[in-house]
Amino acid sequence: KGLTKHYPITRGLLRREVGRVRAVDDVTFHVDEGETLGLVGESGCGKTSTGRCLLRAIDPTDGQIIFDRGDGKPVDIAQSEGGSLKALRRDMQMIFQDPFSSLNPRWTLLDLVGEPLVAFGVSKGKALEERVAYLLERVGLRPEYMRRYPHAFSGGERQRIGIARALALNPRLVVADEPVSALDVSVRAQTLNLLEELQQELGLTYLFISHDLSVVQHICDRVVVMYVGKVVEVAKTADLYFTPRHPYTEALLSAVPKPDPEQQSSRIVLQGEVADPSNIPSGCAFHPRCPYAIEKCRTVVPVLETIGDGQQVRCHRAHELSLRGVE
Ligand code: SF4
Repeated sequence: KGLTKHYPITRGLLRREVGRVRAVDDVTFHVDEGETLGLVGESGCGKTSTGRCLLRAIDPTDGQIIFDRGDGKPVDIAQSEGGSLKALRRDMQMIFQDPFSSLNPRWTLLDLVGEPLVAFGVSKGKALEERVAYLLERVGLRPEYMRRYPHAFSGGERQRIGIARALALNPRLVVADEPVSALDVSVRAQTLNLLEELQQELGLTYLFISHDLSVVQHICDRVVVMYVGKVVEVAKTADLYFTPRHPYTEALLSAVPKPDPEQQSSRIVLQGEVADPSNIPSGCAFHPRCPYAIEKCRTVVPVLETIGDGQQVRCHRAHELSLRGVE
């Protein structure tokens, strides 16, 4: 609720603050238990900072991060420290984008996958090996590989190791930050299928961060679209793809590759670059690039409002525009 993450821009020896990068700006959304919520947008829109704030890998500047286990005692992760934060971390884990840099090359699979179990004092010795063997098997790797090092594995296999590590503590929420974008196209589908199987089997909840709308369409139940640190649209996946309400979503969808080459010409090419989050345009931050902008868009900041069947959109013209989705 109202999640905000600003990075100060400093100059000189005394690190005088001369500005702020507003990476995440008053972001509010929820993730239901058992669902996959997509968080999409171009690079620099604040989606990775949002995911990292949720896990307190970085500290938010402001806002609340409510984690509700359904026991009537919701916890604000943003205010948690020390032991209570460590306890929360058992319930929330992350799968990283790059399976090459996220695994320590000097550690065996036993070390890598077993690390969270040791850190939380869950198991050691024989029980640790048995748990690691189970986890490796569960993600499609042979348990006898546990004494090998990451360099012996392909990109897709390394990402499976990262997934096994994320699952070691039986988390409730997994933040997957572009988990397939560094993989060969041929293994992306396998990895996505594995994530779906694990979700059904273990009752996992995913926050799935991605810039790839074809992948998001395949795996997500609902989608949050971000632009320059703000949420601009929230919708069920089918609604977002068939009837987008925000011009930025329409442009993103038009760039999804289509099997029919004749349809490629329908791509909307936005003018200019993504706005600089340290110098956000007045009014609607998207107005310098928006083909539908009117005078009001340059001066008045639009609010996120609900339209129709629960679709949320931040656009002055959301009620009158009829935007193009994908078939
Ligand atoms: Fe475009 Fe105006 Fe809507 Fe912003 S508020 S997306 S500029 S039409």
